[in-house]
Amino acid sequence: MKNVIIFEHPLIQHKLSMLRDKNTKTKEFRELVTEIAMLSGYEITKGLPLKEVDIETPVGPARVKVADGDKICLIPILRAGLGMVDGMIRLLPMAMVGHLGLYRDKATLKPVLYYCNIPEEAADCEVVVLEPMIATGGTTSEAIAILKEKGVSKIKVLSLIASAEGIEYVAERHPDIVMFCCAIDDKLNDSAYIVPGLGDAGDRLFGT
Ligand code: URA
Repeated sequence: MKNVIIFEHPLIQHKLSMLRDKNTKTKEFRELVTEIAMLSGYEITKGLPLKEVDIETPVGPARVKVADGDKICLIPILRAGLGMVDGMIRLLPMAMVGHLGLYRDKATLKPVLYYCNIPEEAADCEVVVLEPMIATGGTTSEAIAILKEKGVSKIKVLSLIASAEGIEYVAERHPDIVMFCCAIDDKLNDSAYIVPGLGDAGDRLFGT
């Protein structure tokens, strides 16, 4: 499948299986999402720009490389995307964090924007959209469109589980964007939940 990279790392797959289990309770679910976000963050930052700085080691001066983390902006899609922020900012404490509030209208299944806070600097950053579940692809596609309108050109999408249909929907509308996820599931049910998926990611994260 084009435009998508699946993390095959055994630790990510193991933790994803625990997330899927309906017996996994909120606290453990949150911790697992944080851990997966960290492991995924490690994978997607392989090309992170480095800059050289001068420091002093206990033995003398040294010119060393440090991550140019202030060129990264994370955009969690509320609310479930919030669950992935902690793991990512542990790796990238200098990253900016903006927020997009999009909910899926239950009748039309179309995304509705209710909150938008994208830092102006995002246009000069590599932006990572945090969207745990790419189901129909409608919300993800809309989030990308909003970012593009604000002048953002370097966009990646980081997800836990995507549906094949959702990936195709986004790829058709945004062929320039790469999506990263831990698994692609086959189906959506009548309420547009991913099957087998993991249920409602927001509810499971926030105990609602
Ligand atoms: N959002 C979720 O939280 N779960 C799904 O399966 C689909 C969308």
